[in-house]
Amino acid sequence: MKYEPVIGLEVHVELKTNSKMFCGCPANHFGKKPNTQTCPVCLGLPGALPVPNRKAVEWCIRIGLALGCEIPLFAKFDRKNYFYPDLAKGYQISQYDQPFCINGKLKLDNGKVIGIRRVHMEEDTGKLQHAVVEGERVSLVDFNRSGVPLVEIVTEPDINSVAEAVEYLKKLQQIVRYLDVSDADMEKGSMRLEPNISLRKSGDRGLPNYKVEVKNINSFRFVGKTINYELIRQEEILERGDRVVQETRGFSEKNSSTLPRRRKEEANDYRYFPEPDIPPIRWNKSDILSLRETLPELPDQKYSRFKSLYGLSDYDTSLLTESKSVADYFEESLHLAKPSGISVKDIANRIINKRVDISILLPDQMIASIIKEKASKTIGEEELKNSVEKTIEANPKAVSDYKSGKEQALMFLVGQVMRETKGKGNAEKIKKYLLEKF
Ligand SMILES: [Zn+2]
Repeated sequence: MKYEPVIGLEVHVELKTNSKMFCGCPANHFGKKPNTQTCPVCLGLPGALPVPNRKAVEWCIRIGLALGCEIPLFAKFDRKNYFYPDLAKGYQISQYDQPFCINGKLKLDNGKVIGIRRVHMEEDTGKLQHAVVEGERVSLVDFNRSGVPLVEIVTEPDINSVAEAVEYLKKLQQIVRYLDVSDADMEKGSMRLEPNISLRKSGDRGLPNYKVEVKNINSFRFVGKTINYELIRQEEILERGDRVVQETRGFSEKNSSTLPRRRKEEANDYRYFPEPDIPPIRWNKSDILSLRETLPELPDQKYSRFKSLYGLSDYDTSLLTESKSVADYFEESLHLAKPSGISVKDIANRIINKRVDISILLPDQMIASIIKEKASKTIGEEELKNSVEKTIEANPKAVSDYKSGKEQALMFLVGQVMRETKGKGNAEKIKKYLLEKF
């Protein structure tokens, strides 16, 4: 490889708080009738004043803490000014130079650490819908999403391959879901991915003098396709001796390619300035400590604990800790199963093999079904002897074959009894009963 990929990721996560970021409108906008969840604040009407949602701010900080960030005791909101029809006020309330969380990290399975530059709080925009009304092509704006709490998580450009990018994103999604602060559902748009991609000569340590950002990707697979496409495109440009243009591009699902959107803005294009309607926020150390105490056991911690406590394989352990709800279900089942003597492995297998829909079947019902199944797997002596007799009557040829010295005829008869008892009989016992009859 002549070049090495240099990749950073920006991820937007919509929080699932009850209300929006700066007003009392409901934050859950999915499937709602357009423009039914709005008010003067999230419509950006003159004179309307924003009031920050405390829970959203705390959840943003919990994400930061889970990612090992420092939480500065002073933070503020800033205005990011730009024009777009889905942006009601003509600016977005975001954070610029003093965000809630800085300098975090996320560790990949191979031990490599991806630096987290910042985790900050902002508000979502409205949504444009393109439609045809009375024969004319129009763009309609739905402001239900305007002002929904949005957390942005920005990495350092520490990622050097598609595999690392995808692993980082999956781990981040898992952490956010463990914290129960967002569905992080890419199809619904509550988790959106933006890689910035550039190439440097292999062996170079510095950063390239350009980067290409690709906006709003909604699946891990498309992130992989986007990065691969960009790496090839950029390599061709560099090989020609040209410069890669610093710009924002969009991903085209149809062609699995990226297309130019606009030249990349510099931060000063946004004319950031402190939000005058919201006072800066000062924390006490004790505020941050009490938020830290609300963190659940995080995926890596849970994985290590499960691994050492239950002695399951790496694969089983990672499946059982993939989501907090499955991990909780597993541990509750273990607790309930103690008196019955069902093994850890039996319970793990039952859950992993997807025969259990944990949203429907309660742990005690699952345990009961394992017990029932185990009971039905053993067969009474009498029943087994009856089956042996029936099989002998039904297969006179095999019986005489065996008696005339054909050993394999015995195995055939054992197989017939197994079939008759639907696999519940023990082969050694069946053989013994057969021989007793000859
Ligand atoms: Zn509102």
